[in-house]
Amino acid sequence: MIYAYQCTKCRLRVDSTRRADHLDLCPECLIGLLQRKWQVSIKDTMPEHFNQTTQTHVSSMRQFTDDLKRNGEAYSERTGIEVNYKPKDWADLAAEAP
Ligand SMILES: [Zn+2]
Repeated sequence: MIYAYQCTKCRLRVDSTRRADHLDLCPECLIGLLQRKWQVSIKDTMPEHFNQTTQTHVSSMRQFTDDLKRNGEAYSERTGIEVNYKPKDWADLAAEAP
């Protein structure tokens, strides 16, 4: 896991494998604190499974996205209807909920 920190003063971005609410003083401006902003998985992890939506075996988010796109294109070719299948982010779904 990679943790991204950002300086509260100069907005300098620092990536670290250290997990904390904030790191030490910013090495750039020496005033701000490096605050944890987000975390990123190093590996694109998705257990391999048969996906009902794409009707393919997928083992990564990238593959799922590609298969989904291909399905959309095939559907458009078959029906003449433009579609753009994209995986939905859970955060987006939550934001859309009333
Ligand atoms: Zn700074």
